[in-house]
Amino acid sequence: MGRRVLVTGGAGYIGSHTLVALQEAGFEVVVIDSLCNSSEIALQRVQMITGTSVRFYHGDIRDRALLEQIFTENSIHAVIHFAGLKAVGESSQKPIDYYQSNVTGSLVLLEAIQAYGVKQLVFSSSATVYGSEAPVPYVETLQTGSTSNPYGTSKWMVEQVLKDAALANPELSVALLRYFNPVGAHPSGLIGEDPQGIPNNLLPYIAQVAVGKRKELSVFGDDYPTPDGTCLRDYLHVMDLAEGHVCALEWLEGKTGTIAFNLGTGKGTSVLDIVRAFEQASGVSIPYRVAPRRAGDLPAFWADASKAKQDLGWVARLGLDQMMVDTWHWQTNNPHGYGIATNDR
Ligand code: NAD
Ligand code: UDP
Repeated sequence: MGRRVLVTGGAGYIGSHTLVALQEAGFEVVVIDSLCNSSEIALQRVQMITGTSVRFYHGDIRDRALLEQIFTENSIHAVIHFAGLKAVGESSQKPIDYYQSNVTGSLVLLEAIQAYGVKQLVFSSSATVYGSEAPVPYVETLQTGSTSNPYGTSKWMVEQVLKDAALANPELSVALLRYFNPVGAHPSGLIGEDPQGIPNNLLPYIAQVAVGKRKELSVFGDDYPTPDGTCLRDYLHVMDLAEGHVCALEWLEGKTGTIAFNLGTGKGTSVLDIVRAFEQASGVSIPYRVAPRRAGDLPAFWADASKAKQDLGWVARLGLDQMMVDTWHWQTNNPHGYGIATNDR
């Protein structure tokens, strides 16, 4: 029998792709998800891809009784914690909701992890914890903090909690995975990113312009101090990111303490480079206009990903072209994501 992993937020974008990577690596998976930003169809699709079942508990990670039931009914070896709210802009309007879900949720989960003697935890952190003053490329040894929105602060807070928890409990080992910009979809086109309403993120927006759901892309600012004036980000394929979680789980075996890893490609790509790469992969032209800068955007950041390579043996293997091809494949196969067409979509 394979080792059993509890995946919180497993029906979500990164979670569902990670389920595929985990099952393919021989892990058994158990999912808890409130479906507040996802669909159970994603889990059915994961099962179609892998041919292996996913045990699903529908509920909130703050529900202590449900966590108790999950840990009692399943012998959980490790936890991968994706569940949380992730819209940066919304987090400034609804800070309490973000701290409730992301911080309180993590605390309740951590109590259960400790109570049931789970020894390994992988946490979805973000490049945003490096804050607005950090020099690029971001390296794990930089001081974190100076976050500029409640979402980023919630990730930073949970990192501190986990560091203290692992210090106090030598049995526990924690990997803080700091993701850069995950994009793309599983090559089957069966699972992918399915934002509710108007997408905040660049790739889902472009993909919806490409299928005619949105008129044009707004490029947020072309007067940044970058080669073409648009922002640079480190985009990585979601299947590479998913593999990073498998590598982190293997690595945590027998370790103690907390360790942070950047998961990115190590390269910065501009918004206009992305538009061109998508056009090339899809053969569809993307109308865009330059709009004012978006509040809070940093001009440029990318990862120093050498620590993940050295310690985890992980590198991002899939290039920009594959990221675009797979995004396009997912979008054309599922123009309405997992749902049906509605007016707000
Ligand atoms: P997502 O919204 O697709 O997935 C999150 C999942 O968690 C959803 O299925 C949602 O229904 C579930 N969920 C939310 N709150 C919950 C709660 N209280 N209890 C139970 N389930 C809950 O987001 P994603 O893009 O897959 O991101 C996964 C994780 O990675 C998040 O923690 C996010 O902050 C982090 N992250 C994402 C990115 C990104 O660009 N996508 C970058 C850095 C970090
Ligand atoms: N962006 C854009 N138009 C959009 C969405 C995003 O020009 O409709 C830009 C945004 O300003 C940033 C980059 O694309 O420079 C990536 O934005 P995203 O929201 O995807 O990721 P993040 O801001 O988290 O890096």
